[in-house]
Amino acid sequence: MAVSQTTLNRIKAAPISSVIEATGAALKRIGREYLTQCIWHEDKNPSLTVSDDKGFCYCHVCRKGGDSVDYIGQRLGLGWRDALQKTADLLSITVELVDEDPLAAARRRAEIDSARAALEADHQVFRANLKDPRAGRIRQILKDRGLTAEASKEFELGYSSQGFFSGRITVPIHDHHGKLVGFTGRATKEMPGKYKNSKDSALFNKKMLVFNEHRAKEAAHETESLIFVEGHLDVVSMWQAGIKNVVAAQGTGAPDPLVIQRLSRNLKTFILCFDGDAGGVKATEQFISVAGRLALEGKININVVTLPEGSDPDDMIRKGEDLRGLIANAPCWLDWLIDTWAASLSLDDAAAITDVEGKLKDLINGLSSKALRTHYIDKASRVLSSNDKEAAKLAKEWVSSAPVVRVKGWEPMTAWEARLRAEKRLVRLFVHRPELRQRLLPVMRQVQSPAIKWLWERLKELREVCDSDLTPHSAMAVVCVAEPHFMQQLRTIVQPTVHIDDSEGVLANLEDILERAVSFPANEPDPDQLLEGRDCRTVPGDGIVPGDSQQALF
Ligand SMILES: [Zn+2]
Repeated sequence: MAVSQTTLNRIKAAPISSVIEATGAALKRIGREYLTQCIWHEDKNPSLTVSDDKGFCYCHVCRKGGDSVDYIGQRLGLGWRDALQKTADLLSITVELVDEDPLAAARRRAEIDSARAALEADHQVFRANLKDPRAGRIRQILKDRGLTAEASKEFELGYSSQGFFSGRITVPIHDHHGKLVGFTGRATKEMPGKYKNSKDSALFNKKMLVFNEHRAKEAAHETESLIFVEGHLDVVSMWQAGIKNVVAAQGTGAPDPLVIQRLSRNLKTFILCFDGDAGGVKATEQFISVAGRLALEGKININVVTLPEGSDPDDMIRKGEDLRGLIANAPCWLDWLIDTWAASLSLDDAAAITDVEGKLKDLINGLSSKALRTHYIDKASRVLSSNDKEAAKLAKEWVSSAPVVRVKGWEPMTAWEARLRAEKRLVRLFVHRPELRQRLLPVMRQVQSPAIKWLWERLKELREVCDSDLTPHSAMAVVCVAEPHFMQQLRTIVQPTVHIDDSEGVLANLEDILERAVSFPANEPDPDQLLEGRDCRTVPGDGIVPGDSQQALF
């Protein structure tokens, strides 16, 4: 069974920085990229560059690197297939398997290559068509829309006179690396479907694509915001007007949550600027249903522009309206939702009020910031009540009944994860603090992890002749001959640079953990690799740190 192309594409579309961060590694932002400790060599200063744009990490010292699966494979000592599974788990992606023999797989790769070549060929034809003297009417349409020759050239617009996109202006669609993957055809006369997309294929997957992402990312990073509009030609005319941090969802509905997650790594605010009609409201609600979770957790802001009834961004620019002002002053999505729902609410309709109240409670109770929660409970209560007294009562009841928000994405350590950590710390102390060895000896006999047990046997051999033979240096030599899977786990124990806390509280705590009976599950990958650095992770929101107090020691 082979891993499906869809699964591979989904993993590729996800931000590699999230994957690396999920393993507990600390990432330092440098412009649009990150720096972290290299895992391919003993790295004292972070030298691994991580780029979400390229979906790749690379070490400038040892010249190794790879994609997220390569990283996980190296970090956890896993083969490609297991590393892929682990990466998919970290991203909550289900791995789809397809029954495919090697011949069929080779055929499929050849098909992808020929599809790319065909796209390039079509692209050249479409471009030439638009320049053809017979395409005067089409060029006039673009001119009437106010599109400059410069914009047409930048976006490589074309025209298709026959075939799948017959009678349509063609807009090339690129993936986030800037590779051509398909087209959108814009109708030039009355015909069914204003926009028509290339058919979904191994190359073209609407949900995973955002039109203009590769051009907009520089400006989005500078302004820390990205504007979403509905139409591809709206993107072009805004770009022409100097608003360059702008993209369009490919097809109706919001992009895949993974795409939203990737985009949110490099900016703070999404600004939704959809058409001023029922379709625009629906598109806004769809986007919020996908991205709202990140906003509730305080990871991103979503602001919503309301355009005048019947207008799209292109109309606004052509009429000389203050689109920039509307964008700059767009309210937060929760204000927009409360106002939108309130506008359609009749205070005589008890059933409708209960319905809206339920929806608002679900949303507002999920806010991780207490201050924001109080603010919105107050606002929503006023909308749902007919007078101030009633509103105050509702708000008071709401606050007292709202559940405490737990920060998501953080799982407390299991008992055996805690134990493995303790065992590692114990050996570390044993190696680096000879004066503690007598005290630690009885506890050392209780280690259970196969890697640590193996190391302990070797360390005992070293000490057989003379205790002073056991030094961090000699322990390092032992670790160097361990099999790769053990070496990966043991490396951090003997590193001379590692910080060692040998205070009384830590020792007592280690002894306590080691005395508890916990059995190691068989065939588990080493969770410690995933836990490294967890202690220094900041907790967003109200700062509620889950887990019990003993974990603070790790
Ligand atoms: Zn390196």
